[in-house]
Amino acid sequence: MANEIEQAFPFVDMPSFAEIPNHDQGCHECSQLAEDVDAIRGRPIGGEEIRQLHQELSHLSAKSWQWLLPHYLRYCATPEAEYNKFETEFLLYSLSPLERFEGDANNRLKFITDSQIQTLLNLLRCFSTDEYWGKYCSAELQRGISFLKKVLVGRRVPRSE
Ligand SMILES: [Zn+2]
Repeated sequence: MANEIEQAFPFVDMPSFAEIPNHDQGCHECSQLAEDVDAIRGRPIGGEEIRQLHQELSHLSAKSWQWLLPHYLRYCATPEAEYNKFETEFLLYSLSPLERFEGDANNRLKFITDSQIQTLLNLLRCFSTDEYWGKYCSAELQRGISFLKKVLVGRRVPRSE
């Protein structure tokens, strides 16, 4: 799985300051987060940086997600993440939205390619057979798998007559 992630998610540059937040001006979490993200610009992204952001993933724009996911996914495979677990848990939650948040979650994946979505699907399937995650987050993983499938289906443009 780590290899597949490595292949599927090359690093991309952090978006400009203005492109970091997900919501309009006036969202306090977004403005705070944009400052925090901008402050780590150019730094290697590891556990410390991920922990700063992991609870605020819904306030990150689609461009920010495109930038953060390659770092985040690689981090989830480290012994540090396997020990802490909660950063991985928050990522799983972000990928398994409740029905009313599916639109938001779909928008955040706008710049994630179809084959990257496929890799995320494979990852969730892999987690669902994991001794810990398969039990602890079973419902979320099932929801995430059907959500990502729906994302892929939604991207197939119907043929015009
Ligand atoms: Zn926000």
